[in-house]
Formats: sequence, C-alpha cells, structure tokens
Amino acid sequence: MADKGFYSLPELKYGYGDLAPFISEQLLKIHHDGHHQKYVNQANALLEKLDKARQDGNMPPMKCDVQALSFNVGGHYLHSLFWDNMAPAGSGGGGKPGGLIADLLDKEFGSFDRFKKEFTEVANSVESSGWAVLVMCLQTGRPLLVQVKDHHLYSIPGFRILMVLDVWEHAYYLDYRNEKARYNQAFWDVVNWDKVDERAENIVGGGKEESRKAVNPATAHVIPKR
Ligand code: MN
Repeated sequence: MADKGFYSLPELKYGYGDLAPFISEQLLKIHHDGHHQKYVNQANALLEKLDKARQDGNMPPMKCDVQALSFNVGGHYLHSLFWDNMAPAGSGGGGKPGGLIADLLDKEFGSFDRFKKEFTEVANSVESSGWAVLVMCLQTGRPLLVQVKDHHLYSIPGFRILMVLDVWEHAYYLDYRNEKARYNQAFWDVVNWDKVDERAENIVGGGKEESRKAVNPATAHVIPKR
C-alpha cells in the first residue's frame, strides 16, 4: 500500500488573513484546515478501505463507498482549485483579466462586465450546497458557466475547470451570515486572473510559452495539451 498515492492538503500561497475582507482569517482557517482537511482525510480513508478489501478478498458496499469517494475527492479537488484561483486583493487578486482568458470571455459573453454578472447570478442561484464554476468545453472551445451540487453532482464529464467559487454555507456564513450575494460580489476583489489565464493557456492555448498567434480557440480542443 505504501507505494500507492494518497491525497494531501495543499498549503495556501498566502496567509490566512490575507484574503480579508473577502473572508476573515478565522473563516479561512476553518475552511482550509477544517473542512478541506476533512475531505482529504475521508478520501484517503476510503482508498485505504478499498485497498484493504482487495487485499482481504472482501467486497465492500461499492455503491456507497464510491459515491463517498466521488464526494470527498471532488471536495478536495474543488477546494484546491479555489485556493489557487484567489490572491490577496491588490496583490495579484482582483482587477480585470488579460491574455487568453480575457479574449475567451469577451468572445463568449460580449464583455467582462456581462461575464461577471452571469457568474455572480450563477453563484447567487446555487441552491443548498454547491459551487459556481467556469469551465472550458473542449468540444466547442467555449467557456461555460455551470453549477456543481455538493462537490460532484451536475458536473459535465470532460469539462476543464478555469475558475471556481465555493458557495456552500460553510464558505461564508461566519462572515456574512445569510447574505450570500454580498460574499459572491466580494469574490471579484480576490480573483487571481493570472492563474485563471494560466489554466486557460494550459487547456486550450498550449501553455504560456507558445505564441498566442497560434491559438485558435475554435479548434484548439482537438489536441488539448493536458
Ligand atoms: Mn468549502
């Protein structure tokens, strides 16, 4: 079992207090060290359970365990992406996108403001626990807005994630109580557009090093880099 891979909690690239006032130091610490760590622990426990069942020749309740694995691994991945697509306001966070992501958003939504309005509405309209997610559709080369329920439902197979916003109550309630819309609006101050652009480049642009001239978002999906 020792040579098998397991999940681990990624360290934040900023301090716990650095995303304030979007989210407070106390809330980020609970969210990262508490909630995210729990998904990591539960995912690893399920992998160990499955490993042990294979060693012992037992058949665990697969439907139940696999659903729990989807939930916890989904939670781990989405939170990892979430921490990574944020940066302290004015220090990498906020402002407007540039590069390929700006072109993709302009082409799809008509303007950055229109994109912001739609994304915010998608986030505001998530019912119960879920995520607002900007994805890249590899078949059309179009960025799409989707909702993910919990951490794993309503997701589109094969989509590639550009940006996520956690709108579970645990993500904002300590700071915003029931004012989710205020939290969703404040998110724009901490979006790390360089990171979102880097993801777009990796997905459809062939990476930062290649010439932007070579990029044709309409056909780039044919040979996705990663
Ligand atoms: Mn969360």
